[in-house]
Amino acid sequence: MVLPVYITCLILSFTYFTSGTIQSLNSILFNDNYEFIDLTHPFDETSIYWPDAQSFEFINKKIVEVGDGGQYALNDFATSEHTGTHVDAPYHFNEHGKFVAEIPLEKLIVPLIIADVSSIVNDNPNFVLYKHHLDFMINDNFGKPCLIVFKFGWSKFVHDRNKYLGIGADKTLNFPGLSGEVMEWITTSYKNVVGIGVDVSSIDPGSSQNFTAHRMGAVAGLYNIENVNLSRSIPEYGCTAIVMPMKISKGTGGPVRFVAICPKTISTGV
Ligand SMILES: [Zn+2]
Repeated sequence: MVLPVYITCLILSFTYFTSGTIQSLNSILFNDNYEFIDLTHPFDETSIYWPDAQSFEFINKKIVEVGDGGQYALNDFATSEHTGTHVDAPYHFNEHGKFVAEIPLEKLIVPLIIADVSSIVNDNPNFVLYKHHLDFMINDNFGKPCLIVFKFGWSKFVHDRNKYLGIGADKTLNFPGLSGEVMEWITTSYKNVVGIGVDVSSIDPGSSQNFTAHRMGAVAGLYNIENVNLSRSIPEYGCTAIVMPMKISKGTGGPVRFVAICPKTISTGV
């Protein structure tokens, strides 16, 4: 027998509240104590794309008449897996790594830590992040599995592709990124980091030729989120990351809707 949805909901709610120990997530989230913060850039003709990759574009836009004055609209689009705000699956830099559809949800809904190094970067497109830059958080015990997003202060340049990628006259790229030293610390210090985010186009510095941070992270099973939208302020600790990449079965990555659920009052807990 199929129960109407509202009866099923009532039974489920009853089960939760009579258990005495489990609190419904709905009762926690929807009481005006939390806000939802979108960390995703919109997908359109301004989306940042890698030099040899497909930009985002509608390749077919249809309006179809269905009679009686009605119509439906339907678009086809083309994009690289790695255009705009997107996830890199471990397979992107590790032939034995997981495809994007295989990343478990337990690694995609996790505590979010923002490491704001923008004042150290100071708009320097050739900045490379080393361990000593992270002295302020080096002894933090993150505890649970978590996602660290590094804020280089680059989202303000996103509407100027040349500036954002730091494209030089010789076609080189110049934007901040992580050193191998930082990635080694992340993957070996038992801090349970499951993913790395950056507000630039790559976790490696733009000038990198061997993609050390990508390779080390992929071998350790980490995923990346690139071109994170950090245009607005967000608490450094206490938010929950919701990372939902398009579930492309054999994808090396994919477009993502990345949001955070944050307590409105400052929390220091991870
Ligand atoms: Zn990528």
